[in-house]
Amino acid sequence: MSNLISGVTARCTDRIQHVDPRYKGDDVTYAGAHNRTKAKRGSASLYRCWKCGGQARDWAYSHTDPDEKRMTQGKEAGMPYTTDLMRNLPLCRACHRLFDSTTAPRMVASGIATSSPALALTWAYVADRPGMRQDTA
Ligand SMILES: [Zn+2]
Repeated sequence: MSNLISGVTARCTDRIQHVDPRYKGDDVTYAGAHNRTKAKRGSASLYRCWKCGGQARDWAYSHTDPDEKRMTQGKEAGMPYTTDLMRNLPLCRACHRLFDSTTAPRMVASGIATSSPALALTWAYVADRPGMRQDTA
């Protein structure tokens, strides 16, 4: 209803009747947001991996959306995602795995992920690379 008032949608039924990738609304599932990214930016495999420069394979959420969504049910329950297409990064499988398991949790825990997204991404870009050792000495 707030979208109707703000002019995002013309009628309450709009988003149900039209699964439009250009639709910029907020009410979309994890899969819907993923499909929207693919529809708008193309397949991730068309891009170089944001981390290593190899061929990307997946669109990965950067964890930098202050308004991030979280699935409440289904097999993606608990998974965070964004409705802001530009906050998804093209990553190869190896970099995606490492990003989700290690880099993103560290970035989120530090608090900079959403307070300073540009700084967070700069840090994430140079942090954790597949096959490289952590400098903990
Ligand atoms: Zn990569």
